[in-house]
Amino acid sequence: MANTMAERIPVKEGVFTESPEGGTLLANKCKSCGQVFFPKAVFCLTCFNEDMEELRLSQRGKLYSYTVGRMPSMHFEPPYAIGYVDMPEGVRIFAPLKMMEDKPFTIGMDMEVVIEKLWQEEENEVIGYKFKPV
Ligand SMILES: [Zn+2]
Repeated sequence: MANTMAERIPVKEGVFTESPEGGTLLANKCKSCGQVFFPKAVFCLTCFNEDMEELRLSQRGKLYSYTVGRMPSMHFEPPYAIGYVDMPEGVRIFAPLKMMEDKPFTIGMDMEVVIEKLWQEEENEVIGYKFKPV
């Protein structure tokens, strides 16, 4: 029986958007010095300016570092991967990584944002961002 009550809930509001082209992470940028923040900063942590504008990040970045977790965590079944991805806009993003058997992680490889289910919370799917090897 289909459960019509099930919903897809973002793990956090205003952090990403989904479109037919894929997932996009929402950062913000200081209008004064140009520093980019993800997650968004309330004010610029570099120059303390409060005039910030939203910036849609590229869908691809490069893998800076990663690790594979083999211990159970609160939400993820081992093994799971987490790591840092450097975006062209100049931010380094910490995120879960999607493991793909045919594309092992290598430092510097292209990674693409994917929006997908992170875990189940009662009848709802909690969705968030991950990066996967391109
Ligand atoms: Zn600034």
